[in-house]
Amino acid sequence: MIAPISLILKPTPCHRLERASAALGIDLWIKRDDLTGFAMGGNKGRKLEYLMAEAIAEGADVVVACGSRESNFIRQLGAACAVAGLACVAVVMNQPHEPGYAVPTAPRIGVGNDRLNEIFGVEFEEIPDGPWDDLFEAARLRARHERDAGQRVYEIPIGGSSPLGAYAFFEAADELPICDRVVTATSSGSTHIGLHMAFRDFPTQVTGIACDPEPALLDDLIAVANGLSDLLDQPKVAPDDIDLRREFVGPGYGVPSESGNAAIEWLARTEGILLDPIYSGKAFSGLMEMARSGELAGETVVFWHTGGLPSLFAFR
Ligand SMILES: *Cc1c(COP(=O)(O)O)cnc(C)c1O
Repeated sequence: MIAPISLILKPTPCHRLERASAALGIDLWIKRDDLTGFAMGGNKGRKLEYLMAEAIAEGADVVVACGSRESNFIRQLGAACAVAGLACVAVVMNQPHEPGYAVPTAPRIGVGNDRLNEIFGVEFEEIPDGPWDDLFEAARLRARHERDAGQRVYEIPIGGSSPLGAYAFFEAADELPICDRVVTATSSGSTHIGLHMAFRDFPTQVTGIACDPEPALLDDLIAVANGLSDLLDQPKVAPDDIDLRREFVGPGYGVPSESGNAAIEWLARTEGILLDPIYSGKAFSGLMEMARSGELAGETVVFWHTGGLPSLFAFR
């Protein structure tokens, strides 16, 4: 495996939530990837340690990525590119959507990640709102233009979810104490899949709470899993093995949900810990619901906090 560059402070803390454990009737711990010490935290820093190493090894001058304008990934990518001395181009829409599903809530511009992206020197190519596929196509086009102009380009898939990005989480699993279950937010999938692969031969169950409603999310996870299997020279992953819960998304991707917002307030008022409205708040609402239903009875559970806090300021 390629040697990663160093961006984040590892291991991130992992500690017990005393009051939340008592209230939910489980043994609940939290893995603080909101506290990576890098660019205001978040799960993308781990992936970027590997992805940036690959970009540097390939002699890249510029990284081309895409996402929503309020993307946590682009914020951490902008910081990583600054450290690596690479230009960072992000093709963005304000509200990219999946046809047939809810359009994301409009983020406030100039605050949250949008402001931080500016500070980190990310070059935006803003395109009109439309389907995600149009955004991906525009990013490919931009990469081609950069190459035509003589640049060496490193293209990064959405959320940094290449097999190498997932490998970062395969490795991060070593930082965990022994537990029955890990619960994480899932979107582009490399966090969930990396952890899943790390525990595939162990009794620890990895449960991903989907933050995207579309059924095709599982196909995306399988694609990442197959890529990581190849990288590790391991057998492929069967879709049935992946524990993905789709019932806690709320109205749609990028739309804060009532139960997610309630979970944010509950954890803030119980433990003084903040979650975000698009990913970790919804994931924690799923964990709370699973605890209430009795599914987690008797378990030691680790909630993997994936960060995302700047977007608290972009959505109300
Ligand atoms: C990107 C992100 C996720 C989802 O992680 P994936 O590896 O893309 O599935 C979860 N939470 C936050 C805060 C994120 O920024």
